Amino acid sequence: MKIICIGRNYAEHAKELGNEIPESPVIFMKPDTAVLKGSDFYIPEFSDDVHYELEVVLKISKGGKYILEKNADKHYEEIGLGIDFTARDLQSKLKEKGLPWELAKGFDGSAVLSDFFSKEDFNLENLNFSLLKNKEKVQDGNTSMMIFSAEKIIAFVSQYFTLKVGDLIFTGTPKGVGKIEENDILEAFLVDQKVLELRIQ
Ligand code: ZN
Repeated sequence: MKIICIGRNYAEHAKELGNEIPESPVIFMKPDTAVLKGSDFYIPEFSDDVHYELEVVLKISKGGKYILEKNADKHYEEIGLGIDFTARDLQSKLKEKGLPWELAKGFDGSAVLSDFFSKEDFNLENLNFSLLKNKEKVQDGNTSMMIFSAEKIIAFVSQYFTLKVGDLIFTGTPKGVGKIEENDILEAFLVDQKVLELRIQ
C-alpha cells in the first residue's frame, strides 16, 4: 500500500504558506509505516512545529495505470478523512535548500486515518469537512474549493505510479493549518459526523 498526497490543492492554503497556485498537482508520498495506529499522536523529537492538515482521503478500490479522468470515479469506492501531520520547521529548511520533503512528511504516525465510508453516501463535489482543536474550529473545508478534483488527481497520478487496490490518496488541505501542542485534542468531522478524535502527547 502506498500513500500519495497532494500539496497546495486549495488556493487559500497555498497562499497562507506563501506558495503559488500550482498549474499541475504537487505530489509527495508517505510510506505505509506513516499510518497512525490508535488515538494518540506523539510529537516527534526532531520537530518543534508539527502542523495538522485535515484532508479528504480516497481509497483505491480498482488498480490501474493511465486512468482517464472520465473513468477515474470507477477506481475508488470509499472516502474518509485523514490528518497529514507535517514537521513544518523541518519542511521549511528542506524547501529552502530545494531538497525533498519526505522527512518532514513521512515520519511514523504522520498519516492519521478515519474509518472509510461509501462515497455513494456523499456528494464529493460539495463535501464539508472540518477540524476542531480543543473544541474550537480551526479548519473548515469544502471539496468544491479543490483546485484539482479527485478524478483529475487519479488521472494525473496514474500516469506516473500504477495505482493498486488499497492505495490511499490524501487530496490536500484547506486553509487554517496550525501547530499542535501536548494535550491538544483534535476532532475531525465529515459533514456533521465525528469520524476522528486524537490526543496529542
Ligand atoms: Zn497535506
